[in-house]
Amino acid sequence: MTRLEGMPPTPAARTPRAALAELLAGNRRFVSGQPVHGHDVTAAAAVASGDQQPYAVLLGCIDSRVPLEAIFDQTFGSICVIRTGAHVLDRAVCGSIEYVVGQLGVRLVMVLGHERCGAVGSAVDALRSGRRPGGSLGYVVDRIAPAVHEVGADDPDAHRIAIRRHVRRTVATLRADDLLAGPVGAGEVAVVGALYDLATGEVALLPEE
Ligand SMILES: [Zn+2]
Repeated sequence: MTRLEGMPPTPAARTPRAALAELLAGNRRFVSGQPVHGHDVTAAAAVASGDQQPYAVLLGCIDSRVPLEAIFDQTFGSICVIRTGAHVLDRAVCGSIEYVVGQLGVRLVMVLGHERCGAVGSAVDALRSGRRPGGSLGYVVDRIAPAVHEVGADDPDAHRIAIRRHVRRTVATLRADDLLAGPVGAGEVAVVGALYDLATGEVALLPEE
């Protein structure tokens, strides 16, 4: 019996390519207004998930407009989600991804940036004004700043371009991670960067450079 096109994988997609295809199919269901899980956010669906068999781990932004399970039309148990301001990495985030890949056997890591990201905007503002925020927000801004520097804070299009640069930098850091570099080099695990368009709901992969 063949699975329906675009249905979630059972069991978990076992190759990075298959996992990516499943994720993008879910985004197409979301964009087309025909989610198969969007209507079933119930305790019964949660219970039915049983043991988790996630096939991807997604690192996205805290932005309230970008709920990752919804925009990829995923159900309970199918993806692991980590969200920080502008998907900034720290040791807890990296360790969590290492756990999902190493212990749960997940083959795909996606870093998802989004248009009009406020956290990246804060970094652009901080570099333009020379006023670095205090507290731990300063840490977040510091982690985004290299992407803004690469673009040039004075570039009128700095915000939009830095969003893309910051995704690529995050992907590169994860590919070089102590515990991920081996499986990534062997082709067993993929780390990909993508961008979410708030206006259309579409997720587009960032081309490799
Ligand atoms: Zn954001």
